[in-house]
Amino acid sequence: MSEFLDHIRNELAAIETAGMTKHERLISGPQGAHVAMEGRQMLNLCANNYLGLADHPDLIAAAHGALNDHGFGMASVRFICGTQDLHRQLEARLAGYLGHDDSILFAACFDANGGLFEPLLGPEDAVISDSLNHASIIDGIRLCKARRYRYANSDMADLELQLQTARADGARFIMIATDGVFSMDGYLAKLPEIRALADTYGALLMVDDCHATGFMGPQGRGTPAHFGVQADIVTGTLGKALGGALGGYIAGPQAVIDLLRQRARPYLFSNALPPAIVAAGLTALDLVERADDLRAQLFANASYWRAGLADAGFELLPGAHPIVPVMLGEARLAQAMAADLGKRGVHVAGFFFPVVPKGRARIRTQMNAALTRDDLDFGLEAFVAAGHSVGVL
Ligand SMILES: *Cc1c(COP(=O)(O)O)cnc(C)c1O
Repeated sequence: MSEFLDHIRNELAAIETAGMTKHERLISGPQGAHVAMEGRQMLNLCANNYLGLADHPDLIAAAHGALNDHGFGMASVRFICGTQDLHRQLEARLAGYLGHDDSILFAACFDANGGLFEPLLGPEDAVISDSLNHASIIDGIRLCKARRYRYANSDMADLELQLQTARADGARFIMIATDGVFSMDGYLAKLPEIRALADTYGALLMVDDCHATGFMGPQGRGTPAHFGVQADIVTGTLGKALGGALGGYIAGPQAVIDLLRQRARPYLFSNALPPAIVAAGLTALDLVERADDLRAQLFANASYWRAGLADAGFELLPGAHPIVPVMLGEARLAQAMAADLGKRGVHVAGFFFPVVPKGRARIRTQMNAALTRDDLDFGLEAFVAAGHSVGVL
C-alpha cells in the first residue's frame, strides 16, 4: 500500500510540476450569469448554460412537483422496476423534438456514448471517428469490437480515405461518429459533406450534439437541423442547454433504440434517472421549443462578445457559436490570464494540453442568454485589463 501511494503521489506531483493541476472553485448558490464564489459575486463566462435555464423557476417547479408525486429516487435500473410514466414521456418527447423514432435515457451522455457502439457493431464492422471527438465517444468506441479508423478533425479528404480503407478492409457496416460542435473550438462539424460521403460509401452517421441541442437550428433541434441534414443516430445531454442538471440520451430508429434497451451496458447496469430530473427535462423541452427569444439573445450576445474581444486585439477562433475561445498559446499564460480575470471578478477556465494541442492553450469563454449587455461590457473591460496585465495585449 505505501509503495502504491508513493506512486500515486508522484503522479500528482508530476501534474502539479507541469502546471496542469485543475482546481475546483466553490460556488455557494445557483448556477447562473453571476455566481457566488468564495464570498464574492463573479461574472460567469464558462458554463454550458447556453439558454440560461439552469435556475429557471419553471424547471425548479417541475422538479418540486415530481418530487411530490413521483418521489425522490428509483432505487432500480430501468428494466427491473425503474421506469415511470415520466421516463417514457421524456423519451418520446426527445425523439419527437429531434425527429427520430424513439430515444433512450442514460444517466449522462458520457454513458450514452459509452453504451452506444458495443451493442450495435461487431468485429466485422468499422467505426470512423473524428480526431477531436469527445472523450466519451473515444471510450465508447474502445469498448466495441469494430475496427477503428480516425480522420483528422473535419478533414473531408481524410474521412473519404478512411471510408475507402474501411470498405477495402471488407467492413460489413460502417458508422461515422462525430461531435456536432467541437467543444474546444466551437467549430461545427461539416455535416452536409459528411452526410454526402456517408451516403456515397453506404455508411451510417452518428452525431453527438451536446453543445448544440436546444439552441442550434430551428427550435434548437441541433446541428443536423441547422444544416438540414438527417443523422441516423443522435446523442445528447440534459446537462447543458436543456436545464443543465444531468442525463443523456440516444435518439434513432426504433430497432436501434429497442436493441440498446436490451444490450447497452450503462442502461442495464445503472440506476434510472430520478423523477425530478426527468420532469424538469420535459419542462425544459417545452421552454426550449418556444425559446426563439432566448436563442436570439444568445447569438446576439455571442456576436457582441466576439466583436468586442476582436476589436480589443485578442486572437479568437472564427465562428458564430457561443463558444468563443481566446487563444493564448502557452498553458502558463492561459492559467495566469484566468487567475488575473478571477481577481477582476470574472470566472473563466484556461484549457491546455492534453485537452487541446500543445502551444494552443486558451481561455474558452461561453456565452449564454442570461448575460446582459452590462455583463458583457464588464467582461470586456476585465479582459482588456487582464490582457495588458499578463502582456498579451
Ligand atoms: C458534455 C459532453 C458530453 C458528456 O455529457 P454528460 O451528459 O455531461 O455526460 C458528451 N459529449 C460531448 C460532445 C459533450 O460536450
